[in-house]
Amino acid sequence: MSTPAPRTTRCLIVGSGPAGYTAAIYAARALLNPVLIAGIQPGGQLTITTDVENYPGFADVIQGPWLMDQMRAQAEHVGTELVNDIVLSVDLSKRPFLVKCDSGAEWLAETLIIATGAQAKWLGMDSEERFKGFGVSACATCDGFFYRGKQVVVVGGGNTAVEEALFLTNFAEKVTLVHRRDELRAERILQERLFAHPKVEVVWDHAIDEVQGETDPMGVTGVRLKNVKTGETRDVACDGVFIAIGHAPASELFKGQLEMDGSGYLRVKAGTAATAVEGVYAAGDVTDDVYRQAVTAAGMGCMAALEAVRFLAEQDHAAAQHPISHKEAEKIGAW
Ligand code: NAP
Repeated sequence: MSTPAPRTTRCLIVGSGPAGYTAAIYAARALLNPVLIAGIQPGGQLTITTDVENYPGFADVIQGPWLMDQMRAQAEHVGTELVNDIVLSVDLSKRPFLVKCDSGAEWLAETLIIATGAQAKWLGMDSEERFKGFGVSACATCDGFFYRGKQVVVVGGGNTAVEEALFLTNFAEKVTLVHRRDELRAERILQERLFAHPKVEVVWDHAIDEVQGETDPMGVTGVRLKNVKTGETRDVACDGVFIAIGHAPASELFKGQLEMDGSGYLRVKAGTAATAVEGVYAAGDVTDDVYRQAVTAAGMGCMAALEAVRFLAEQDHAAAQHPISHKEAEKIGAW
């Protein structure tokens, strides 16, 4: 069966978190008829959180998945074409950019907005890998339900770790938060809630040395903790381990084509969403290792779309001033 010819679009958005949807809303309202490829986790990280208290505009606590449903509906309502597919490769060496997807679909995009976000980081231990899905998880919202009346360990000291620990108190009998330092980086309000909770114990200055478990049936039975100051180890019994140590940008697709920092965050020109490749923009967690909030991601998505709109208008204007045939344009790479 032959592959269908690539479809063209003026603006292709990759990623369906707050950055992607906001870019889509602005691009659609500028009549670019944007196409948004939703990716592996439609709706992004907010679909695996619960309460959202800091997204402006809502006096009551709202739910992450609900917020993302609203953003998707808004993006579609104003004219975005939403595609449930996964991008496998991009070629940024010439414009329009060729984007190939898992379904076999191919796109030629005049502008590309990268809003691929970030994904949970793991500790990188063999024992963690062995028990992934059998007691080791990176998503309390997804898996917390399985730990009713049980004991769980959460690793990390940021907002995610504290939120996951608090969420798990709804199910577990005891939640032990293990942190490698003696102070959390989570927001004060979350810290206060954590310290006040009777089901929570915090173990300071410790790291996980090993996840312990059984193989028949597969399951976690505990963790070996190591004091990072003294090197002493001790075993703590538990039924589940939740890793909440931050996120890594989903920028693999762009390696060798776009500038990134040592941790893989895409570099943009200061104060803009523009990458070094004309017509390619980055927004949200894939480029931001500082703020990493839904509202800042949405703001960056807006910036990316406005910049794409301006870029296309300049291209259109230049083409109107100096009309050349499509063939000639292709020859000189000026399409
Ligand atoms: P984070 O703020 O980067 O925190 C990661 C935590 O994991 C840190 O405490 C870090 O320790 C620890 N850690 C990192 N690598 C580790 C390792 N190998 N072993 C043990 N511990 C390790 O990540 P996050 O909590 O996922 O939050 C990411 C961003 O999303 C933040 O900007 C956060 O504010 C935001 N967020 C916001 C909300 C909210 O506003 N409600 C909710 C969730 C996330 P150190 O402290 O020692 O570095």
